Amino acid sequence: MATPTPVTLHGSCHCGRVVFTVDTFTPYPYMVCHCNTDTKTAGLGTANIMGEAKTLAVGGRDPSALKVYRASKASRDRAPPATLPLHPSADAVAGLAAEESPEHLSTHQRHFCGHCGTALWAFDERWPDWVYPFAIAIDAPLLPAVPPADQVHICLDFRRAYGPHIPDGVPESQRFAHYPVESIEGWHKKRGLYGTWKPEAQ
Ligand SMILES: [Zn+2]
Repeated sequence: MATPTPVTLHGSCHCGRVVFTVDTFTPYPYMVCHCNTDTKTAGLGTANIMGEAKTLAVGGRDPSALKVYRASKASRDRAPPATLPLHPSADAVAGLAAEESPEHLSTHQRHFCGHCGTALWAFDERWPDWVYPFAIAIDAPLLPAVPPADQVHICLDFRRAYGPHIPDGVPESQRFAHYPVESIEGWHKKRGLYGTWKPEAQ
């Protein structure tokens, strides 16, 4: 078997203030997340790929625009049809600080551009060897398409009726109420796609 070879991905936000590069052995955006936090903050059809954290380089015209969002448990649990008051009580306003105190925040750090709002990548201190770029943030090379038969759709317990779209042909065994057991690396290795992608050959 050939030695796995990484591909360097080039990503950016929409306004171009934040640009990044990261190497990946696992470039296939096969796993579509339907969770409330991802669909609310990053849009429908969010898929993460996985990059090698030690290779992440950040630059651009104004990298200080890079911001990090850590969801609070209260905000993650607030799935539709829950609504929030347009004019909250003073107690509710004052409660925000406690709700967002560090011990109540997710370890999942969503990096985004504070100017244009583009979701860029996630980092989780529980898995420090990797970063998880949002597929939509990658400009080049264009990521490979994944046919429905190989797609995995996760967090379907949180799915809104209108999407993300689940195409015909996604097997029932690849639809998960929460998370699958198989890792991103495992999915790629099982299909002979770990470190084998040659974008120039497309
Ligand atoms: Zn931007």
